[in-house]
Amino acid sequence: MKPVEIADGVFFVHTEMVNWVLLTDGDAVTVIDTGYPGQRGEVEESIRAIGRDPHGIEAVLITHAHVDHIGSAQYLADTYGAPVLVHPDEDAHARRDCHEVATPWDVLGNIWRPGVLPWAIKLIRLGGTAKYGIDSPTAMPVPGALTCPGAPVPVLAPGHTSGHTIYHLPDRGVVISGDALITGHLTSPVSGPQLLPQWFDHDRGTATESLRIIGELDADILLPGHGPIHRGSVTEAAATARERVAATP
Ligand SMILES: [Zn+2]
Ligand SMILES: [Zn+2]
Repeated sequence: MKPVEIADGVFFVHTEMVNWVLLTDGDAVTVIDTGYPGQRGEVEESIRAIGRDPHGIEAVLITHAHVDHIGSAQYLADTYGAPVLVHPDEDAHARRDCHEVATPWDVLGNIWRPGVLPWAIKLIRLGGTAKYGIDSPTAMPVPGALTCPGAPVPVLAPGHTSGHTIYHLPDRGVVISGDALITGHLTSPVSGPQLLPQWFDHDRGTATESLRIIGELDADILLPGHGPIHRGSVTEAAATARERVAATP
């Protein structure tokens, strides 16, 4: 875990299991996604590593309410008073009024596939089986740029979950894509732009359609929820992922 400054005030934190992003404006920080519950210390450490203090967190944004993305969100809210902003369409999921996630049966049914068992063991170690939600998320104002550091523009890209949201930084040419478009995963045999294996998606058809939404954004840096940074046209990256979906039986 070492934050990498991708563009002015845009830091990508890539870990083996999941990524998050820090946006800065002076001492103030926006945190986009928060790792697994077991990565709380890493999230705080990443903020200190870029010379900021976690007390400077102005907002926590989430792409979607899966445990690997909200694992430290409630902790950051409780400890540092940071509001957790979610898209209105992801609000019920964040509160755990519903749960759109791969079940233990989905995992067991795919455990024979290469990479799934090691991934599941690491997930358990990082607290990924916890029934974990956000107590009082704040619905973010949409559409338009948010006023927190980095001025990210939330864009609804549903399918992986009903309210999955990506964040566009138009003046920096960056898209933070969460699980709507990734570049690698322990359970995936391929690297490069792709969707997660199908059993992770709440609605695969909608997730595939959302690649068109992502492809319309003007950007040449993709910061995914899983896998390394992708440099190059995000439009082409989304097209590559669509081709891979079409080629998968
Ligand atoms: Zn997810
Ligand atoms: Zn994820």
